[in-house]
Amino acid sequence: MKSEAKTVIIGGGIIGLAIAYNLAKMGEEDIVVLEKGYLGNGSTFRCGSGIRQQFGDEANIQMMKRSVELWSGLKEELGMDVEFRQTGYLFLLYDEEELESFKKNVALQNKFGVPSRIISPEDAKELVPPLNTEGIIGAAWNHTDGKANPFKAVFAYANAAKKLGVEIYEYTKAEDIKVENSEIKSVITDKGEIKTRRVINAANAWAKLLNAKLGIDIPIEPYKHQSVKTEPIKPGQIEPMVISFKHDGVYLTQEAEQGGIIGGYGLKYGPTYDITPTYEFLRGVSYRFTQIIPSLKYVNVIRIWGGYYAETPDGNAAIGKINEINEYYIAAGFSGHGFMLAPVVGEMMAELIVNGKTKKPLWFYDPYRFERGELRGKAIQMG
Ligand SMILES: Cc1cc2nc3c(=O)[nH]c(=O)nc-3n(C[C@H](O)[C@H](O)[C@H](O)COP(=O)(O)OP(=O)(O)OC[C@H]3O[C@@H](n4cnc5c(N)ncnc54)[C@H](O)[C@@H]3O)c2cc1C
Repeated sequence: MKSEAKTVIIGGGIIGLAIAYNLAKMGEEDIVVLEKGYLGNGSTFRCGSGIRQQFGDEANIQMMKRSVELWSGLKEELGMDVEFRQTGYLFLLYDEEELESFKKNVALQNKFGVPSRIISPEDAKELVPPLNTEGIIGAAWNHTDGKANPFKAVFAYANAAKKLGVEIYEYTKAEDIKVENSEIKSVITDKGEIKTRRVINAANAWAKLLNAKLGIDIPIEPYKHQSVKTEPIKPGQIEPMVISFKHDGVYLTQEAEQGGIIGGYGLKYGPTYDITPTYEFLRGVSYRFTQIIPSLKYVNVIRIWGGYYAETPDGNAAIGKINEINEYYIAAGFSGHGFMLAPVVGEMMAELIVNGKTKKPLWFYDPYRFERGELRGKAIQMG
């Protein structure tokens, strides 16, 4: 392990790796990523794989518009197929109030060039043949939303970063950050000390533990959310991500290559670091899946698992520079939408660090908004 580095990134999830890759791409040298387990073992490998631009606020729409542009080119850029497929997101709408609020979202999304639209229940059924349309009065649909393979995305970013000289140390835990007179001196790991002047906290559900060592308090709490995977079914049955807030935020989609259905719903526990799967979830998700797609009652569940939503009070991440300590940055607290944001967050953080500024809406994710009491509108999120 190196004893000195220009930049130390703590967290080998999709966010830490995307930042490392983008920094190296912009010409930064001497970058180290520390991961206390194996790459992706935190939230990233436990995610539902969804990628969407259908948000209800300008900043997330703009960020995701750019992120989807980046996702579209990742295969060529990183040299590995991350199975990005634009199979769309379909929000099922059951009453006038829901319909009105999604119409407003669609208008805002269209303003920023996202081609979402409201469609009829019949059109929704054409997109998802086994859909139960009972009670549905419309749906919000965007065909440029989609999904990707989290495992391949992590390895693609890690390998591309390594090719640009980034050093990645797995099973290496950052235990402390030494600071003197507001200047970072080093990161203490369980394998030794790395002298550095710059640290990026990309530890998501564990971000607050690192912050606490520095006397910094940003409200990011770990909540257990769960996901399920079924045996493969005939291809092309449920290609879009299908969501119903009327059924407690249930979401499901068919994997692009493997053909199983994956998804979850809004049951959450916490704050907690216990992510043991629960029978309550298995029953609840099975019931809700079959309300939306009745024929799924004939399909076997092969796996359920728990993972972290690292949640802030408004469901949006804390991203930016920490004022109290020179060259200390954070990009954490991504709730249920950090996987999809990773390419654009990587690009934005690299711009911020290398150029000192970015044209992307960094202000929206200001880590200090909580202490000022300036919460954003709650981000639209599934699960
Ligand atoms: C059930 C479920 C479904 C989801 N579905 C979606 C979805 O469909 N779409 C989407 O966009 N998002 C989804 N998410 C959210 C998504 O998984 C996360 O937002 C995203 O993975 C966050 O990436 P990250 O790199 O910030 O965090 P992580 O992947 O958690 O990475 C942080 C890493 O930091 C490491 N670490 C922590 N502390 C230390 C330390 N002291 N030293 C060294 N390493 C440390 C951890 O081990 C971890 O690997 C879902 C999450 C769950 C749980």
